[in-house]
Amino acid sequence: MIIQVQKNIEQILLEEIHNKIKQIGYKYSHVITPSNHYIICIGKAEFDIRILGCLDGVIDIHRVSDSYKLVSKKWRVKPTEIKIDGQTMIKEGEFSVIAGPCSVENEQQLEAICQHLVQNNIKIIRGGVFKPRSSPYTFRGLGIEGLKMFSNISKKYNLKIITEVMEISQIEQMYPYTDIFQVGTRNSQNFNLLEELGKIEKPVLLKRAMSGTIDELLHSAEYIFSSGNENLILCERGIRTYEDAYRNTLDLNAVPILKEKTHLPVIVDPSHGIGIRRFVEPMTLSAIMSGCDGVIIEIHPTPEEALSDAQQTLNFAESQSLFNKIKEVVKMREKIYV
Ligand code: PEP
Ligand code: MN
Repeated sequence: MIIQVQKNIEQILLEEIHNKIKQIGYKYSHVITPSNHYIICIGKAEFDIRILGCLDGVIDIHRVSDSYKLVSKKWRVKPTEIKIDGQTMIKEGEFSVIAGPCSVENEQQLEAICQHLVQNNIKIIRGGVFKPRSSPYTFRGLGIEGLKMFSNISKKYNLKIITEVMEISQIEQMYPYTDIFQVGTRNSQNFNLLEELGKIEKPVLLKRAMSGTIDELLHSAEYIFSSGNENLILCERGIRTYEDAYRNTLDLNAVPILKEKTHLPVIVDPSHGIGIRRFVEPMTLSAIMSGCDGVIIEIHPTPEEALSDAQQTLNFAESQSLFNKIKEVVKMREKIYV
């Protein structure tokens, strides 16, 4: 059960609510975010929730039978909108395209990509500077100096940055230069990192773990939300299965299931999802029809020379054609699913 109380509720009212919850035999904990105050109550006893709902200071109350609570649609029906600097950037009904290199490499690369994105009216650029690579001998990113360069150049083009954070100690140094913190597949169940990201006031894009279930993804999101951050975006990026004809199995089934279970925006990463350049386009277009709220695509001026994920990265001609087709398919989706 979740009880939403007034943000600045008086202590005396809070004590009354606490006492009632205890009488019913439930345990409770508080979740305080920059805009809201929730009391999460866990217990089994049956009771009439009106005895809590009528107390002063209570705004809303719902039983949530799912074991994740705050991210559940049983608690909140209204889709979550992601704002950056007061401006809505990701929301249901307005398809978002995020694109950029797998890794930030140099100024020329970033300048060229930023120009390409601006020409296509894209508002968010992706790019990693802390790269989780399977081999320690491959390019592992330019680190914080690369992020500073990324931030300087993106700002010139009024683009917002999404970049991966790999460990708690990076959060503070990244903070001034990052608009959305990405949690990659390998850290999707790093609960200590998730809790720390719950304490910041910037959005977090949480990718599904490589072998994580949908339920586990929702519980990971609950870790962040219950630590105080409601600005969450979920990302399906493919899971590891026995199939080895492609990099990952892009689980588009997850999209409608997630959209039914949670109020959080759901985006799809077809680049990592299939890992083969020529098939990024059909999988992106398929993802749109599955009902996602956006996609994140890897692009590069010269993909053959990209320092990471070259095999799945689109060049400008390919991405230009894809961006045009995305618009067409989004229109078609709106016509079909009114
Ligand atoms: C990436 O976005 O470049 C990345 C490493 O993603 P994932 O965590 O999905 O592998
Ligand atoms: Mn990549």
